[in-house]
Amino acid sequence: MATLNIAIDGPAGAGKSTIAKAVAAKLGFIYIDTGAMYRAVGLAAVRRGIDSTDQEAVASILDEVEITLKHTEDGQQIFLNGENVSAEIRLPEISVAASNVAVIPAVRLKLVELQRQLAQKDHVIMDGRDIGTYVLPDAQLKIFLTANPQARAQRRFLELQEKGVKTTFEEVFADMSYRDKNDSGRAFAPLKAAEDSVMVDSTAMSLEKTIQTITEMAQNALQSEDMK
Ligand code: C5P
Repeated sequence: MATLNIAIDGPAGAGKSTIAKAVAAKLGFIYIDTGAMYRAVGLAAVRRGIDSTDQEAVASILDEVEITLKHTEDGQQIFLNGENVSAEIRLPEISVAASNVAVIPAVRLKLVELQRQLAQKDHVIMDGRDIGTYVLPDAQLKIFLTANPQARAQRRFLELQEKGVKTTFEEVFADMSYRDKNDSGRAFAPLKAAEDSVMVDSTAMSLEKTIQTITEMAQNALQSEDMK
């Protein structure tokens, strides 16, 4: 049987990862967080003292950057050259570095290859910015999940606070605006809704309602694939 691929794209803080994780758990799919891969490359650059906007310098370390994923009960764990960096990649400075390295075509080509391999092996829900438009153009279900910038920054701020990361709402809002602009404005595979995607605006929807709506869409996609 062919694998079922679900793409969830949208801007930072729209709730993609929380929702994709919950839907994957309900349906027994593998959840793949592609943002974590860009974050791991951003972390590799920061650790080497490389300016993440220096495209040549970042491209030159790519051969030394090995990224692997493991799927455990706690969700996806990401390893950078064998070291589990799942917590460290969530730091705000790494968000910005991730967005900077994500502009670089060589970085994207490396990560997209890995993402496509994973989607061939299993039923996956993959979240990111370019999944429906570029990584998995044949995904059977594409969702563009969005919410207004205030709501997105507020959610991300609370999430970071819960993790004990010291930051302010203003800082989170500024980081998010920077990333939104970078992600939508880059030349190669920018953040954009695929023409055949379903738009879901979660601004006024509870988390439970959003999970339920997307689970139903995924169940319908699964059923129509099974009937082929
Ligand atoms: O999703 P998350 O916020 O963890 O992603 C971190 C950064 O990685 C984003 O701001 C974006 O620049 C980049 N990214 C991307 N394409 C993806 C996933 C993430 O460019 N498919």
